[in-house]
Parts: sequence; C-alpha cells; structure tokens
Amino acid sequence: MNTYDKNNIFARILKGEIPVKKITEGHDFLSFYDAFPKAPLHALVIPKGAYANWFDFYEKASQEEIIGFHNGINQTIEILEIKETGFRIISNQGANGGQEIPHYHIHILGGKKLGPMI
Ligand code: AMP
Repeated sequence: MNTYDKNNIFARILKGEIPVKKITEGHDFLSFYDAFPKAPLHALVIPKGAYANWFDFYEKASQEEIIGFHNGINQTIEILEIKETGFRIISNQGANGGQEIPHYHIHILGGKKLGPMI
C-alpha cells in the first residue's frame, strides 16, 4: 500500500495535467474543490510530496511538510468561511476506509448540517 503510483489522479493534478478549481496552495500543499462534491462545500487538501496515505506521510514527510500541510488545511477553512458554522474533516485510508485515490488527502465538508458521521 505504501508504493506510490506516480500516475494517480492527484499526482497528475500536481503536474498540471488535470485542471482543478483551486482554492489555495502553498509550498507543501494544494487545496481545491472536489469534482464530485458530497456537500455544498467540499474541499480536498493534498500534500505536494509523493505520499500514498497517512502512514507514508507521517513516516516520510519532513516536519516542515507536515506543518505546511496542516497550515494548508487551516487556510482552506478560513477561505471557505466555515470556521463559525462548522465542518467535518475526513481522511479515507486503505480498503476499509474506502480510499480511492492513492495520494494522501483530507476532505473538508461543510455548508450545511452534515448529519450523522456515517
Ligand atoms: P477518496 O475516496 O478519499 O480517495 O477521495 C477521492 C476524492 O477525489 C473523491 O471525493 C472524488 O470525488 C475526488 N476526485 C476524483 N477525481 C477528481 C478530480 N479530477 N478533481 C477533483 N476531485 C476529484
């Protein structure tokens, strides 16, 4: 599971091969709107480094990248203006988690009351 597929969709987005509706980006992260939103506001935040999942990121990324990525999550929340109304952060991992794209990412969902967690 930790073998990184260099042609996964998010890798191709980072290479500029697939267009996205960008929210913001920094040295270590890119955030953009999910192409198939599951809520009125559905953003994705991805690290720019080649990490397949959370463990890959946590074990291999530098402290600077880890902090930069989390700053990216915070910046995205600020831009979406959902700090006061609330939101949900999800990160699907592996088969049981339902991860479809093997590049580490988190989902930020908001814009309405989201209901039960699952
Ligand atoms: P996951 O199931 O956690 O791997 O989530 C992958 C997410 O990527 C899904 O919510 C998809 O709707 C989203 N997605 C797939 N292709 C694209 C794309 N080209 N641009 C933006 N979001 C995408």
